[in-house]
Amino acid sequence: MDLALGDETERLRDEFRSFFAQHLPADLSRKTLLGQKLTKDEHKGWQAILAAKGWLVPSWSKEWGGPGWGPLERFVWDEEYSLAGAPRANIPSLDLLGPVIIEFGTEAQKREILPRILSGEDWWCQGFSEPQAGSDLAALKMKAVRDGDDYIVSGTKLWTSWAHLSNKIFALVRTAQDGPKQAGISFLLIDMEQPGVQVSPIITIGGMHAVNEVQITDVRVPVTNLVGKEGDAWTITKFLLGHERLVGAGIGPNMALARQLAAALERTGADGRLIGDDPVLAQRVAEVETDLLALRYTAWRVLADELSGKAPGPEVSVLKIRGGEIQQALTELLMEVAEIESLVHPWSLPEGAPVVAPEAAHMAQQYFDRRKLTIYGGSSEIQRNIIARRILNV
Ligand SMILES: Cc1cc2nc3c(=O)[nH]c(=O)nc-3n(C[C@H](O)[C@H](O)[C@H](O)COP(=O)(O)OP(=O)(O)OC[C@H]3O[C@@H](n4cnc5c(N)ncnc54)[C@H](O)[C@@H]3O)c2cc1C
Repeated sequence: MDLALGDETERLRDEFRSFFAQHLPADLSRKTLLGQKLTKDEHKGWQAILAAKGWLVPSWSKEWGGPGWGPLERFVWDEEYSLAGAPRANIPSLDLLGPVIIEFGTEAQKREILPRILSGEDWWCQGFSEPQAGSDLAALKMKAVRDGDDYIVSGTKLWTSWAHLSNKIFALVRTAQDGPKQAGISFLLIDMEQPGVQVSPIITIGGMHAVNEVQITDVRVPVTNLVGKEGDAWTITKFLLGHERLVGAGIGPNMALARQLAAALERTGADGRLIGDDPVLAQRVAEVETDLLALRYTAWRVLADELSGKAPGPEVSVLKIRGGEIQQALTELLMEVAEIESLVHPWSLPEGAPVVAPEAAHMAQQYFDRRKLTIYGGSSEIQRNIIARRILNV
């Protein structure tokens, strides 16, 4: 079953498809779909193509370089983006900090920061979590002590995605020790290219280097780098985390994986039979496809609310949990298919032939990597707490 969103939106969908067909380099698309690592230069090259078209920052207002799309257009863009295998990078700059600066930044901050994000000159990472402050973010300890026109900042940020590729970090810092925990937190912009900032890699279960520990020791940061007022960070953080309500559902990435799975079922297993002919496997695939369809419908309901101006509700948490679980189920099935394909004695293969299809070779890594989905951006347990409180009233 296909979901149609009206003629005008479907025309736009066709426009997106032909743009990707013409401008997305085939090797980038292939690497992305296989879950392979891209270099920063490759990401920057693709970012420049999008910027030239005016489609780099769909969530920014037109005044600052956005395409002027509404939620519906952005939804279709996200689906087609993933299906095309377009790489996503620099997300903290493009999707998180940009909208924050547009909403809360001073004119000077907007003029300085936004063009440098668009040009790819600055890559920002998000310094929120700390060793003892993840789910309980308000427990964070990185301190910023006022000294004349500067703050002196010290502390540790953990799980910082992209920090090793970034030259700037936007961080939540503690500017007051007394009073309610949230009220003592401020939102600060910090240059990482200075003494006192050290980035150490963390290799995750999929064998990838995407997250880091960032140690900051007695670094001077001008007070003009504060976003909003001192102690205002909680309002900004809520805006930032709620900015794109549908992103957590990962509809596009889920659809791209479902497409890969459908293609994998058409391949032949080691026993010479079509992989999709296995009735047990076929049933499990049908179940996860049905779940994905239900997820898309739920996302549509949220989209309809958004279009009618309704404030975000707890359904966002439902989307986050289910979207992550479905992606995990899809990678699990894809890995099982890879197992079926690899049940072959290498001697029975022609000289030099790969044991598994190239599409299957990276599945174990993708399978492990997607475990993160039910942890970051608010773990599933935390989302369930929200659902319990706001829907079940417990
Ligand atoms: C791949 C990846 C990338 C990340 N990127 C970034 C980034 O760029 N910037 C950034 O700031 N952070 C980032 N994070 C951090 C992420 O936001 C945290 O991991 C997440 O908020 C959970 O915090 P924690 O790891 O400290 O776990 P904890 O909060 O210590 O939780 C441990 C376990 O206890 C459960 N738990 C905790 N509190 C409760 C509760 N009240 N009720 C029920 N269960 C509870 C959790 O669900 C979890 O299972 C990233 C994490 C990952 C895995």
